[in-house]
Amino acid sequence: MNAHADGAASAAAPYYLPTGDEVEVFEQCHAQGLAVMLKGPTGCGKTRFVEYMAWRLKRPLITISCHDDLSASDLIGRFLIKNDGTVWQDGPLTRAVRDGALCYLDEVVEARQDTVVVLHPLTDHRRLLPIDKTGEVLEAAPGFGLVVSYNPGYQRMLKDLKPSTRQRFVALDFDFPAPEVEARIVAQEGAIAEPDARALVQLATRLRALRDRGLAEVPSTRLLVAAAQLSARGVELRRACLHAIVAPLSDEASLVAAMRDLVDATFV
Ligand code: ADP
Repeated sequence: MNAHADGAASAAAPYYLPTGDEVEVFEQCHAQGLAVMLKGPTGCGKTRFVEYMAWRLKRPLITISCHDDLSASDLIGRFLIKNDGTVWQDGPLTRAVRDGALCYLDEVVEARQDTVVVLHPLTDHRRLLPIDKTGEVLEAAPGFGLVVSYNPGYQRMLKDLKPSTRQRFVALDFDFPAPEVEARIVAQEGAIAEPDARALVQLATRLRALRDRGLAEVPSTRLLVAAAQLSARGVELRRACLHAIVAPLSDEASLVAAMRDLVDATFV
């Protein structure tokens, strides 16, 4: 199980540059007890946004990375065998419900349907979590918020969320930020000069156009930040792009060659 608590609201605000009205809408959802779904490609700021909102709303954050082995017990909890009997141990979802934390399920579409249905009663008006194994029915503590993320493009043919699940969430659409906003993010996060950040974003715009030529995964803001960080440590920017952007995206020779050409054209 891959879950971690990021503790109560920390002193320093996580760096997050809003790209639309997402902060305001999320705050309204939280105030109304509505569950939120963040839709968008990987590496476009969904996780950072949740970290920022947890800080802003002064709630602890519990993050759960979903995968197809994740069971309802992994979320809710289980009895553990101790020396002289068994003890109940809360899972991360139960802890979040008791503590009034934000609970963030990353890539929820990876989880099996019988795991995802555990979330349904928490999205109802009364926000309950039935724990079958102990007979308890927990009411979510004030401040509890359920957030899931979902990448609609990814494995669309293989996996999707059921309509009965989707309709329980308010959805916020995420995408790569506008070029000038993305350049500010890359400059800030990668600690590089603005002109270099703008060049990276220009490269990303060109590479993202290769989607039509078969590039399944296009470069995310995260990859640009990684290239910037390499460059800030002294790796020449062009080489940083080859290592941090081109190589991770594809193994196919023709696509790699096309990407290298675009890198050369950007950093002449
Ligand atoms: P996701 O959860 O969508 O896969 P992340 O939130 O992990 O993506 O974003 C990847 C990285 O991109 C972050 O670590 C951060 O450096 C940067 N980033 C993307 N969007 C923003 C934003 N709006 N403000 C600040 N940083 C951002």
